[in-house]
Amino acid sequence: MNAILCPAVSGPCDPPGVYRTLLESTKAIPWRIDWSTMQFTYIGPQIEALLGWSPASWLSVNDWAERMHPEDRQKTVDFCVAQSQQGVDHEADYRALTRDGDYVWIRDVVHVVRKPDGSVEALVGFMFDITERKQAEDKILQLQRDLEALSYRDSLTGIANRRMFDTMYPVEWAKAQATGEPLSLVMIDIDYFKQYNDRYGHVQGDACLRRVAAVLDTCASRSRDLCARFGGEEFVLLLPATDAEAARGVAERCRKLLRNEAITHASSGAGRTVTISMGAATIVPGSHDDAAVFLDRVDRRLYQAKSAGRDQVCDSEA
Ligand code: GH3
Ligand code: MG
Ligand code: MG
Repeated sequence: MNAILCPAVSGPCDPPGVYRTLLESTKAIPWRIDWSTMQFTYIGPQIEALLGWSPASWLSVNDWAERMHPEDRQKTVDFCVAQSQQGVDHEADYRALTRDGDYVWIRDVVHVVRKPDGSVEALVGFMFDITERKQAEDKILQLQRDLEALSYRDSLTGIANRRMFDTMYPVEWAKAQATGEPLSLVMIDIDYFKQYNDRYGHVQGDACLRRVAAVLDTCASRSRDLCARFGGEEFVLLLPATDAEAARGVAERCRKLLRNEAITHASSGAGRTVTISMGAATIVPGSHDDAAVFLDRVDRRLYQAKSAGRDQVCDSEA
């Protein structure tokens, strides 16, 4: 170690004493392992403050391995042994066990010391406490996951948004192509919603959209079903492995549940409460079918339902 740390200054000094003081006053914990015996020949006393184990209790490389989180042990030991055998300096992050039974994230930075003939003589290194850094990283990862989830949510209604539909529709289309299972789509549009806004104002209009979205979301009840806000007062149900009869059942259930919700709409031309019109279609997509063309078909049926008087499902061509 003296050879590594020898200063380029002259004058009266006590190198071992100076270096020991320096090494033992840093936060990083120095250590040395003899390669032939795999025994610790030195470990900084700071280890006791960090992990609670006294320096004297660090005898062999086994003490190091045993005081490691079981999930990190095999991977870390294998990596460090392989790198050391090849004489390669390396770093490893792992959780070290404290005497109290907690874990502290450690970054071990290891230098391989070789003999003049090139063989490994010892390993020297520093352990750094990186718990805070790891916690900050975990927090950032969690924030990224939250953000990712939020970017697929409609901020007004809380259900999936158009982006989610645009992501999942091609996925389910391809799955249906591969499995030969029927795929159903239901497009939904609130009737006379402009009149609702005109009569009750946009704030109540927004509240109405939230209630309708919540009702529709409960109708998409199977695990792969998706209910998304398509835009404005339009919604879409993506129903994988669902045939035409089942899709009609889901659509009629939406109508029934919304009727039960009984949201007053005194300016509606289709009754006294908020109603919806729906277009539904089912396909087992073949290689020549086009997802956009199919979506267009569903949309046309929605407008057929509108022109036929609203508050109904259209699931066939006129
Ligand atoms: P139809 O029965 O033919 O569907 O008639 P409609 O009045 O529902 O259809 P139209 O397309 O004329 O009007 C849709 C209305 O939806 C107009 C728009 O202001 C309202 N709308 C769209 N998005 C929102 C929103 O986020 N909040 C509120 N409050 N209103 C919205
Ligand atoms: Mg509309
Ligand atoms: Mg509408």
